[in-house]
This record gives sequence, C-alpha cells and structure tokens, in this order.
Amino acid sequence: MEHFIEVAGATIDTRNFINGERVATGDTFANHSPIDGTFLGDFHQAGETEVNAAVEAARAAFPAWAAMGPAKRGELLHKLADLVEANIETLAMIETMDNGSLLRSHIRGVMPRVAMNIRFFADWAINKLHHPAFETRGHSNNISWDPSGVVALITPWNAPLMLATWKIGPALAAGDTVVLKPAEWTPLSASFFADLTVQAGIPAGVFNVVNGLGRVTGMPLVSHPGISRISFTGSVPTAKVIAKAAADNLTPLSFELGGKSPIIVLGDADLDLAAELAVEQYDNAGQVCLSGTRVLVHEDVADEFAEKFRAKVATLKQGDPRNLSTDIGPQIHPVHFERIKGFVDRAKGEGIEVLWGGEPNGDLGGLFFKPTLFKNPPVGSEIVTSEIFGPVLTMQTFRTDEELIAMANGTEFGLAACLVSGNREHADHVTSQLVAGTIWVNCFFVRDLSAPFGGSRKSGIGREGGTWSFDFYADVKNTVVSPNGWKE
Ligand code: NAD
Repeated sequence: MEHFIEVAGATIDTRNFINGERVATGDTFANHSPIDGTFLGDFHQAGETEVNAAVEAARAAFPAWAAMGPAKRGELLHKLADLVEANIETLAMIETMDNGSLLRSHIRGVMPRVAMNIRFFADWAINKLHHPAFETRGHSNNISWDPSGVVALITPWNAPLMLATWKIGPALAAGDTVVLKPAEWTPLSASFFADLTVQAGIPAGVFNVVNGLGRVTGMPLVSHPGISRISFTGSVPTAKVIAKAAADNLTPLSFELGGKSPIIVLGDADLDLAAELAVEQYDNAGQVCLSGTRVLVHEDVADEFAEKFRAKVATLKQGDPRNLSTDIGPQIHPVHFERIKGFVDRAKGEGIEVLWGGEPNGDLGGLFFKPTLFKNPPVGSEIVTSEIFGPVLTMQTFRTDEELIAMANGTEFGLAACLVSGNREHADHVTSQLVAGTIWVNCFFVRDLSAPFGGSRKSGIGREGGTWSFDFYADVKNTVVSPNGWKE
C-alpha cells in the first residue's frame, strides 16, 4: 500500500506518527473529499498495538519535555507556529479538500488562528501563568502549574486543525506530551502538521498522531491507564462512551460538546444587524457547534426581521468551497448529509412550515444542502431540540421576556447564545438569565484565547482558554512554606 498521497500539491503521509516515526498498519480506512467525492487515499488505521506504542512513546518523552521549562518549550513552539504560518495556503487547501469548509475562511481566519493557538499558549505559560504567593498565619502559599503527563486529544471534523491546536497548544506549553486522534473523516491536516513538528525540532515522542475510527483507535486511547488527561471535542453520545472508559482510571476529562444555541432578536433590536448576524449562523454549512440555530424573535418585529433575513440569505452563493467567492460549501460526508436530510424530512412530514430551503441543492448535487429555515415549530419538536449540525435553523416568536428565557433555556444544551438588542439594560436583564458558556451581544464569534470557553449542561464539562486551559492540562500545586525551621 502507498504511504503517501498528493493533495492540492502537498504530500501527505497516510501512516500514523509515533515516536517521531511513521508507522504503517495492516488495516486501512478510506478518505474522500466532500466537494465531489474524489477518493483522496487510504489511511493506516491504528489499533490497540499502535495506540499503546504512541502512549509509551509519549510517556518516555515526557520527563525531558517537562524538565525543559516553558521558555525553552516556547522557542520550539514558536518555530512550529512559524512553520504553520509559512504553510497557510497549503494547510488551507488540504483542509478544504478534506472537510469541504471554505478555502477563503481557512486562509483568512482559521489557519492564522492555528498558528496563534500555538504561540498564544506558549507565551501564556511563560508570562501569565503566575499566581501571587499569599500568606496563611505567616506561611506562604506558592502555586505552580506542573506538567501532568500524557494527554489524549480527540477531535472532530468540522474544524480539524483549529480544534486540535486549541488543545495541542496549551498541552505542549504546559509540558505535557500528546497523543492526538483526529476525526476519521479528516485525517489530512494532522498528518501534515506532524511533519511540521519534526521540522520545528519538537523531540520524538512529544507529539504523536494515531488515526482511525472511534471504536478502533479512540477507545484504546481513552481507556489507557497511562494517560493523565482526556480532552475531547465532539458529540454528546461519544462523550458518554468516553466518560465511561475514563471512569475506570479516573482520568480527568475536558468535554466540548454539542449545542442548540439561540439567536435572540429583542423588540428593540437593530434588525439589519440582526439579519446580518442571523445569516452568519449558516457558516461552515451550519457545521459549527456554536451556531445559533434557534432564532427567537419578538413577535412585533418578526415579519420585518424575516424579510431582511430572507434578503441576506438570497445573496449567499453555494458551491465549490475552493472558489473564494463561495459562501456555503458541502456537508462533510454522505452519512452526515443523510442525517441532516432525515431531520428536515421528518419536520416537513410533521407539517412544519419551511420559509426557505428544506432540500438538497439539486443544481449542485452531491452533498450540498440549501440553507433552510423552519417557522414556528411546535415546542419540544425534534427540529427545535436536537443538534442537527447542518444549515438548518428554526424561527419562533415570543411576547414577553419570561417566555423568551424559558424558550432560550429550553434545551439540554448550554453552549452559546447570541442576543441582538438596542437597549443595554434590557440586554443585561436577558443575558443574566441565559444558560450558556458564551453569550455574544450584538456580535457573533468574537473569541479571545484568554477568555473561558466551554459549555454548560450537556454542552460540556470544564472551561479552556487562558489559565483555564492550564488548570486542566497541568497539575495545579500549592507548596506551603513555613516561616520556621530554616537553618540559614
Ligand atoms: P463525534 O463525537 O462523532 O466524533 C468526535 C471524535 O470522537 C472523532 O475523532 C471520533 O473518531 C471520536 N470517537 C468516536 N467514538 C469514540 C470512542 N468510542 N472513543 C474515543 N473516540 C471516539 O463528533 P463529530 O461528528 O466528529 O463532531 C460533531 C460534534 O462535535 C457536534 O456535536 C458538535 O457540536 C461537536 N463540536 C463541539 C465543539 C465545541 O467546542 N463545543 C466544537 C466542534 C464540534
């Protein structure tokens, strides 16, 4: 079997990356591009043997990497970020071929962010990871963030390298070593990134990649007694399986899971701004955990808002994500496409009104689904409670703030919320009662790496970002020093 494939002019190694070396296996899984179904290549699937080897390599590399200290690690991590920046166009094209997201977004935002994920946490470990010592009856408390060991990182396909480096950055900066398992539908960018770690001089075993399906490759990783942390981004059902596996070893978990976030348009909102923010919820063909998929709009402004929203949606250009003028690309995979279509068909079958979309884009064929809006689904119906993870929104109206808050908080999720209002006091009154890890007021998707990020309820466990990331990846230690007993 071939070990290399050419994608968009880049050479990608299809083998696992363990202890600085490429490892072939007898088992493979196929990878296709969602753009047009092109076969990209077969990847070597890691089983228990390779996963064990990766964890052992990471354990062996840990003492030296931990002892290196934040400054020396920071030098290597900055080199890695430099290499990401030098390869932005290549990484952007690889990712677009692999998951169908817009090339434009990858070039302008996502891949620069990948480099920033690495730089930011390297610098944070050097400059910001301090807590002032404090006294207890003359004793000083000295807080440190010590490297914890080998971390297992499990990531999804919707923003593969961005979400992986959001974990890799702080984990490596904290002095941990890493075993990454990317999503099986999008293995390309992690493999290319592994080559960059070699070029950056990251020592063998510090960063490892194992590829394959969740049950084949993911399970032995999250069940391994030799790992100190599991950071997982993905769906709620998978999180439950991982939590059970982690329970045997009491491995600490960080979960970033699904959402069904509201985008709220108050009666006093600027409706042009509201329409602009609403149309952004179709970004990445709706495959964004943070998307405000439930539009909740005050009944007095609902019709006017819906017309403005419709006009914006009409300008969206759906098509090949490699074309820089495209706004919406394909869904990731035939299985996921059918899942989305199933939700939509069932909602239509229940007689829920479709304001626009509601079907695949027949002109484009393949995995393209039209941006869709359902109007006034009954409270509790599947389309308004389940995460669809596609370009499918619902719109419901409310009369009072009480009614709005009950609707906004009426799912099992609590990842994010977006609120549009022209009145600060009114906005504060509503946001203070929303259950969400992040709330955007009159804006969407403004994300600072130093801010806490995570979900409430079933949208996650824990927070990452700034020191919150290190609180998870590191062993936080308090050394209490007495004023007594000193001989000097
Ligand atoms: P998924 O749960 O199906 O898979 C995520 C990862 O888990 C993949 O790498 C998969 O191979 C792995 N996996 C599956 N079974 C496993 C097992 N038994 N053991 C170990 N690993 C296993 O999710 P997905 O479909 O790839 O991603 C979409 C989901 O991710 C959505 O629910 C979305 O909301 C969520 N998401 C959340 C955030 C966030 O920050 N909160 C960000 C992006 C995506």
